[in-house]
Amino acid sequence: MNESPKPKSTGDSDLIARVRAAARQEQFLDVVSAEEARARFERHLNLSPMSSERVALAGAHTRVLARDVVAATDAPPFDRSNVDGFALRAADTWGASDGNPKSLTLNKEVIACGHAPVVTVAPGTCTAIATGGVIPRGADAVVMIEQTDLIEEDQPKIELRRAANSGQFISYAGSDIARGETLLRRGTRIGAREIGMLAACGLDCVEAVRRPKVAVLSTGDELVEPGRPLKPAGVYDSNGAIIAAAVSEAGGEPSTFGAYPDDPVALEKAVRKALDASDMVVLSGGTSKGAGDLSHRIVPRLGKPGILVHGVALKPGKPLCLGVVGGKPIVVLPGFPTSAIFTFQTFVAPVIRAWAGLPPEAVDTVTARIPLRVASELGRKEFVLVSLVEADEGTIAFPTGKNSGAVTSFSQADGFFEIDALASALDAESQVDVTLIGSAARAPDVVIMGSHDVALDVVVGALANRGFSARTLAVGSLGGVAAANRGECDIAPIHLIDPVSGQYNKHLVGPGLSLVPGWRRMQGVLFQRGDARFEGRNAQEALKIVLADRSALMVNRNPGSGTRVLIDKLLDGARPAGYANQPKSHNAVAAAIAQGRADWGLAIAPVAKLYGLGFLPVSPEHYDFLVVDKRRERPAVRAFLEALHDEKTRQAIGALGMEPSA
Ligand code: AMP
Ligand code: MG
Repeated sequence: MNESPKPKSTGDSDLIARVRAAARQEQFLDVVSAEEARARFERHLNLSPMSSERVALAGAHTRVLARDVVAATDAPPFDRSNVDGFALRAADTWGASDGNPKSLTLNKEVIACGHAPVVTVAPGTCTAIATGGVIPRGADAVVMIEQTDLIEEDQPKIELRRAANSGQFISYAGSDIARGETLLRRGTRIGAREIGMLAACGLDCVEAVRRPKVAVLSTGDELVEPGRPLKPAGVYDSNGAIIAAAVSEAGGEPSTFGAYPDDPVALEKAVRKALDASDMVVLSGGTSKGAGDLSHRIVPRLGKPGILVHGVALKPGKPLCLGVVGGKPIVVLPGFPTSAIFTFQTFVAPVIRAWAGLPPEAVDTVTARIPLRVASELGRKEFVLVSLVEADEGTIAFPTGKNSGAVTSFSQADGFFEIDALASALDAESQVDVTLIGSAARAPDVVIMGSHDVALDVVVGALANRGFSARTLAVGSLGGVAAANRGECDIAPIHLIDPVSGQYNKHLVGPGLSLVPGWRRMQGVLFQRGDARFEGRNAQEALKIVLADRSALMVNRNPGSGTRVLIDKLLDGARPAGYANQPKSHNAVAAAIAQGRADWGLAIAPVAKLYGLGFLPVSPEHYDFLVVDKRRERPAVRAFLEALHDEKTRQAIGALGMEPSA
């Protein structure tokens, strides 16, 4: 019996159609360079940081600060004892030795932590104090209990056999964190250290940049969720996990949508949902032009402008698809794991970082030698992932040798180098610049060492707006001069008067240094409002009164400070009570007066205002910058000087009570 052949089933014709489609190589029509791809993408995006939101300190870890944080209190808040012992006047101990012990009468007070002292330490007396206790009025040093003997008489006494220095075992108010100081800068990612600083200033919440929400989807019939058994021809969805983690690292908030089969209807539905709920959608897989690849086909259906780039002259990563729909980016990364994470880091992470308020990631490179010839495709810029090895003759970069389908080639590489699109190979022994992956925090762009001032924070803030980071180390004016002379810093802010000429700072300009004028700060006498010895008088009159008043207690400054030079000039040899109390900052002086531990001292006008104290002007002090000539042409140093002279910065400096120099 001759049976006629069965009519072809529709299933068969379907299959044949798919075979035909798979064999017909679709081409990427418009392959663009990596630079062009990035430019097109960013042209359609607003890259300013997201709005800010208030976040409780407990939930602030890893968040990015939306605003600078200015310390509202000093830490420590008062002059504090570092040991268990006795608070006293250092002058009472001078000359003490084994042969000549000095004895001091114990006051009827014990200063425990949390106890505000009430008894003044008068000459010849001392007060028992615990570690962390508040230094009482009149005292300027602490001796350790171990170095004293108790004498039991009617009135108990202690005996000492060693002299104490003024300031011994005292941490001055504001020596850790000074009120008014910019504690943390916006764009800073909050880690454990930052949390500790915020808490020490009494802050229980911060303004953080809202984290951009990024939906992460994987596509492919073969994908299996980690944790499930692997089916035949199945592959674990590793892209979903690595992309979600990379979103967090870039400052975003990932929402994982999971893996979808190559089914256009289900996928479109999922992508629409993701787009609604997020600021950005990242898919991986299905962007090639082969069978089953349809992720990119969905994008034009979602809205305008749709696909901006499909096909980048880049290896790994050619099939990358970048689109924007209604202001939201939608990105289809290549499915191959190395290509996926590489293109994510190159094109997507910078957008998330910008939205999250983070600065662009620093690129660190090292020069290395390649031990073997590396072939490359003409017409595509190629990135070769390498492992670095330190050899006697220098660093060697070994290509990891795995293709872009490998998961480990990116995860285990130390870095990568580029082969130009126009080169077909790189010869063995060539030198290459290797960009490091996940390298350590970068060094600051400018190092500023010297005296600190609140207006310096304004200039450093303006510098940060220009994209440069600064490290400021408060080492005092003299420390700054020394650092500048040794070339350890770029810029040294100083304010030292020449006792001979009476001029500020000019005498410190040595070879290789130049002086750039900063601003003037008014120095004057600080006192508690309402104190009749000062209120309504000028500084000269007030000084005359307090120098004749034995109950008036001053607070001095440390030797070497510009303010101390001025104080000694004013006192003209007089040594009023409290002269030996010599804290190291304007803030500590103001805190001592505000807390009643002293009646007067010298500091700058803005600090008087900060502590609500009265102020009698004495003379303006010049706060200028020594610049190391060799470093003056560095982009960050130039940016600092530009920021300093910028009209907006000058206004902000003026608003703090300083007078910017012409
Ligand atoms: P595609 O871009 O969909 O053509 O996929 C290219 C290659 O990447 C294939 O070998 C896929 O199995 C693989 N791939 C795609 N998506 C993932 C994923 N989410 N996790 C791991 N491998 C993937
Ligand atoms: Mg696929």
